[in-house]
Amino acid sequence: AAKKQGRNTWQWYQGEGVGHTSEHVMLRHDLHTALRENQFELYYQPVVDAVSGQIRSVEALVRWHHPTHGMVSPGIFIPIAEQTGQIIPLGRWVLRQACQSLAEQLAKGERIFPVAINISSLQFHRDGFLNEIQDILDETGLPPELLELEMTESILMVGAELAIEMIRRLRGMRITVAIDDFGTGFSSLSYLRDLPIHKIKLDRAFIQNILTSRSNAAIVQGIITMAHHMDLVVVAEGVEEREQQQDLIRRNCNLLQGFLFARPMPLADLMALPDRLPLMNDDTIID
Ligand code: C2E
Ligand code: MG
Ligand code: MG
Ligand code: MG
Repeated sequence: AAKKQGRNTWQWYQGEGVGHTSEHVMLRHDLHTALRENQFELYYQPVVDAVSGQIRSVEALVRWHHPTHGMVSPGIFIPIAEQTGQIIPLGRWVLRQACQSLAEQLAKGERIFPVAINISSLQFHRDGFLNEIQDILDETGLPPELLELEMTESILMVGAELAIEMIRRLRGMRITVAIDDFGTGFSSLSYLRDLPIHKIKLDRAFIQNILTSRSNAAIVQGIITMAHHMDLVVVAEGVEEREQQQDLIRRNCNLLQGFLFARPMPLADLMALPDRLPLMNDDTIID
């Protein structure tokens, strides 16, 4: 049911068992103190060259270490934070934390990767968002070329004209912009023509069925071909199997991200990875 209703709706919780409502109220309450009490941590997941497995960038993914529930998934608390407005301070923390960590690595002379940050529509459309980004870059000293922003098609719903203008300005600041979960939104394909973005990320739902559904594979192929005609880089999310990798290479997909290569991990673990990721054994991948 969750899939059909869309992931960012309340239906997400249905079927999670009795008590989901009170659990939600509790989490909503706990979110208020979580930032102050330092309960968030950023994990990083590599994005690799489809053919060589070479790490090309990383995606920052927030983790909440809840004092009693343990690790709470962002799939659960990000929608709550969006509802309560907590996403604004949390989003700012994520941006600053990622930029600062990477800038520190750079200053230490460590190997560093461009970092992609997920930006909620609410955050994107709030007054002063572009200034906030500029301030964080200035404060941390991270070169803008190392910052990527991932946004879903939902930013277009609020106001497509405004979103396009803002992306143009981000581009002017030399920041990379990607459309996340591409293909899952409701916007028309023609908007791609007007969006001054660099990358699209194919949603995991398409990758999961790429070997089993001919129509699904056709959609993936169509999107890749179209994107390349527009000089966009294509990333496939959620690659878990070697056969999926091989299929995506055949379809000319540029970059891959998924458990086949690496799970999201703390910064220290990321820094210890080799430049080129060896493939994991398919059998060891359990979600
Ligand atoms: P997303 O931006 O599409 O991130 C990709 C998600 O897919 C991550 O889930 C990642 O762990 C997961 N993933 C990657 N490879 C695989 C794979 O091979 N198999 C499977 N089963 N999953 C894979 P995660 O970390 O739970 O995050 C879920 C969503 O929460 C993200 O989806 C993003 O929409 C949101 N999110 C996470 N961090 C942030 C953040 O800092 N800010 C905002 N606004 N949203 C965030
Ligand atoms: Mg993302
Ligand atoms: Mg995504
Ligand atoms: Mg996704």
